[in-house]
Amino acid sequence: MVIILWFNYGLTILNEIKGTTMDLSKRKLLLSLSRLTVGAALIPVTEVYATNTTPDRISKKGIPGKRYGMVIDLRRCVGCQSCTVACTIENQPPLGQFRTTVNQYEVSDDDNLDSPAAFFMMPRLCNHCKTPACIPVCPTGATFQREDGIVVIDSDWCVGCGYCVQACPYEARFINKETNVADKCTFCAHRLEAGLLPACVETCVGEARVIGDLNDSDSHISQLLKINKKDIKVLKPGAGTSPRVFYIGMSDVFQDQLNTQPGVKTLMLDDGEIINNDN
Ligand code: SF4
Ligand code: SF4
Repeated sequence: MVIILWFNYGLTILNEIKGTTMDLSKRKLLLSLSRLTVGAALIPVTEVYATNTTPDRISKKGIPGKRYGMVIDLRRCVGCQSCTVACTIENQPPLGQFRTTVNQYEVSDDDNLDSPAAFFMMPRLCNHCKTPACIPVCPTGATFQREDGIVVIDSDWCVGCGYCVQACPYEARFINKETNVADKCTFCAHRLEAGLLPACVETCVGEARVIGDLNDSDSHISQLLKINKKDIKVLKPGAGTSPRVFYIGMSDVFQDQLNTQPGVKTLMLDDGEIINNDN
């Protein structure tokens, strides 16, 4: 029997960073610093401000010839929440709402309590599915998939009905409390179009997150998928959506565990099966 406790230390810290004590000038400074930090490795500072990094100003067509996907190597994730913070600073969701999070689990074996606890990190984001459940339910066509596979939302057309939020099997979407329209990860399409990496990939200290072109057999992501073929998993494989976010090193136990809300969670397992879920 195993007891799993879910922590969100990083999210608490993030909420403090984004708290009401932060005035507008500080937020602007933080935003500028983040763009300098995450972009500095790739382009000169002066070009950061020349690129269009406004998240809602992205191409509707996408980048021709590409099919973007992401690999998350859980063996390399240290649960630092750098990706969560970088995404939040880059995309500015409202306080308490996130486009990506890293769920943190402490795993103890109830039959062997003298053993030290194991830790498990579970980064989550929109899967930019091959067959997205969120698109057919959208009554206005605001949610659509670009040619490069990135699923986006046209906020001008979104009426905030929440059908897509309900339809997504991964709890990857939310209704933005400030704009009242649907919101979610875009793989930082605005950054990809500017020749940059998504904020979460750029800041990942463990280099656990790898984004790339699945159409290119020589790309890093394609090579990772090939080399780790036997250890690649997706979330909720039975949902029929064919996610394009792939995990390396994920236990079967977590494939269907998708509770995204902050707080301490307890799961009871017996021989690898969940026998009690207090979430
Ligand atoms: Fe749509 Fe959810 Fe798939 Fe993202 S993870 S493409 S929101 S069904
Ligand atoms: Fe894990 Fe990388 Fe996110 Fe840190 S930045 S929590 S290592 S995925």
